[in-house]
Amino acid sequence: MLLILLGPPGAGKGTQAGQVVEDYGLAYISTGAILRSAVKEGTALGQKARQYMDLGQLVPDELVVEIVKSRLQESDCEKGALLDGFPRTVEQASFLEKVLPETGKKVDCVLLIEVKENELIERLTGRRVCSECGTNYHLSHKPPKVRNVCDECGGDLYQRDDDSLETVKERLEVYKSQTEPLIDFYNSREVLARIDGNQDIDSVRDQIKAVVDKL
Ligand code: ADP
Ligand code: ADP
Ligand code: ZN
Repeated sequence: MLLILLGPPGAGKGTQAGQVVEDYGLAYISTGAILRSAVKEGTALGQKARQYMDLGQLVPDELVVEIVKSRLQESDCEKGALLDGFPRTVEQASFLEKVLPETGKKVDCVLLIEVKENELIERLTGRRVCSECGTNYHLSHKPPKVRNVCDECGGDLYQRDDDSLETVKERLEVYKSQTEPLIDFYNSREVLARIDGNQDIDSVRDQIKAVVDKL
């Protein structure tokens, strides 16, 4: 099974991913998380990607496509995978369509999580992330049990550089111009499922489960 989480920054993709991966035994592929760890480690990829990420812009397709291509070849993907934050351009989606047959996979479902724009801004500026395991929190919607400490692993929480108000606004514009065209792309392939992401975390999870259970 191959699932894609699509939706604007702040929609709740990362938050929902953990449960989906666990429920259906899928490998988790988050291009944002892979890129952030490359930046942290200062690899060649990280050095190239950083300038785009800091500005809230997309990292060039050719870099991201290489990441996904090699990640899909890892053995844990044999049982299926959940893509979070990829594809983000029509070029990336076309690439996926081209390489998937080689791996014996196809896109089974694209879960589009939709959330109102003012709520997205509130979610992103209040987001905190675990520096160790990447779990997402929110200052008021999903606070950790102990202030600034991850419930899962005890790691320190931090605010992503690109979650500042200015960069958030740029990312929302980038989503509209470069990623929203994917809605039509996948709708025409009859794999799109719309999820109301304005609901609380558990209701969103239930909607996703109802869709995936029927696949
Ligand atoms: P994405 O991966 O789509 O960018 P996240 O999963 O990181 O989004 O969620 C963005 C922020 O919103 C996080 O701080 C998260 O805790 C919070 N959040 C996620 N889902 C909900 C929800 N359904 N209701 C309220 N806050 C949410
Ligand atoms: P969010 O869902 O909160 O917007 P991500 O963690 O998915 O954030 O992505 C963070 C940043 O990493 C993006 O703003 C972009 O610069 C880069 N990035 C992640 N995935 C991709 C992708 N598929 N194509 C291009 N850039 C990407
Ligand atoms: Zn953690």
